[in-house]
Amino acid sequence: MSRTVLVLGAGLGGMVAAHELRRLLPRSEHVILVEREEQHVFPPSLLWLMVGKRDAAGISRPCAHAVRPGIELVRGEVVSIDPSARTVRVGEQTLRGDAIVIALGAEYALQAIPGLSEAGLCLYTLAGASAIRDALARFEGGRIAVLTATPQYKCPAAPYEAALLVDSYLRERRRRDKVTIDFYAAEPGPMMVAGAAVSAGVRAMVEARGIAYHPEHPVKSVDAPQRRLDFANGTSAQFDLLLYVPPHRAPEPVRAAGLLDDAGWIPVDRHTLATRFPEVYAIGDVTVIPLTMGRPLPKAGVFAHGQAEVVSHNIAAAWTGRGKPRRFEGEGACFIETGGARAGMGRGNFYAEPLPEVKLHSPSLLWHGAKVLYEKYWLYRQF
Ligand SMILES: Cc1cc2nc3c(=O)[nH]c(=O)nc-3n(C[C@H](O)[C@H](O)[C@H](O)COP(=O)(O)OP(=O)(O)OC[C@H]3O[C@@H](n4cnc5c(N)ncnc54)[C@H](O)[C@@H]3O)c2cc1C
Repeated sequence: MSRTVLVLGAGLGGMVAAHELRRLLPRSEHVILVEREEQHVFPPSLLWLMVGKRDAAGISRPCAHAVRPGIELVRGEVVSIDPSARTVRVGEQTLRGDAIVIALGAEYALQAIPGLSEAGLCLYTLAGASAIRDALARFEGGRIAVLTATPQYKCPAAPYEAALLVDSYLRERRRRDKVTIDFYAAEPGPMMVAGAAVSAGVRAMVEARGIAYHPEHPVKSVDAPQRRLDFANGTSAQFDLLLYVPPHRAPEPVRAAGLLDDAGWIPVDRHTLATRFPEVYAIGDVTVIPLTMGRPLPKAGVFAHGQAEVVSHNIAAAWTGRGKPRRFEGEGACFIETGGARAGMGRGNFYAEPLPEVKLHSPSLLWHGAKVLYEKYWLYRQF
């Protein structure tokens, strides 16, 4: 009797999971990939788009192009998940899986901060990054504020890269002396999970470029007409152009499915990505994996990718009886674009005890080149 794996979400994690499952399972087993969007956008490239180094077409691909023979793509909105029955409602149809891989990512909770979306431009969407590109092209001088609305967000390097790329963009156009850049962080420091040395290293990179860094400034509300940020610590700041990372939360069908912990994400076994429901796995941004150091594993594509490989391998091993179970061991790496065709790189083991062991490599042409190669690999290998 043939079985079915449902992969929910064709983002960075779900795409890898569907491809790996198809590669590893016999053709008699079904792989169904569910996705609501027509276009897949490669998120790391949004930062290059924002400073005019990419266009939307260059970093997007139709989801349908990612479908290999033997993968069924169901285009539609996941509206509910019953993890006990392993059924999923997609629009009007109900799908049943012998195993489910939930890879629905994080959604943005803009309403959590009054005034934020009216006052600023979002660094984390295609529409926002495109609007930032246009706004920067017109920006002759004034105050730019880069804001992380909450301390936990996907890709902890991204807003720091954004600030460095904006600085670089303005220097190249000889406008930097007419602009102040302030970074208001909800968190106590950059990339805290990677350890004190990495955090201090990234902060030093930002400050060396004349960007004023204000940690522990969680925003309470934004006054759009007055262009003013009001922080929970009682201080305020004016801006002319606001670039923000939005608050995140688990997508609606996941919240309604009884899968979440108190922090609002799906708790999973840190090595197998199993949820508390048999044969239901969750990977990537929708999960929470607490670390001994007191903060969760960061939400990042590199982890979603590695977790997808482990879950796919283990489902295939269980169904075919071939191969030993694998474990996700918390290895990860992250590029930090600094502008001027240079990038740094943080790499290490985030499951190391008692603290993650992550090393920061200084910015160089090499790491920038590696990031460009990874982008090409993703956009041409997966589609
Ligand atoms: C600007 C930026 C830069 C980044 N840079 C890096 C980087 O350099 N390195 C790195 O490792 N990570 C980076 N990331 C983070 C990385 O993109 C995410 O961590 C990664 O995409 C998570 O993968 P995922 O599969 O969990 O979720 P996603 O990739 O977000 O995929 C979720 C998918 O589910 C779909 N979906 C959601 N809800 C529904 C629904 N109800 N019905 C149907 N489909 C649904 C979505 O459309 C989406 O396709 C960056 C992110 C941003 C925004």
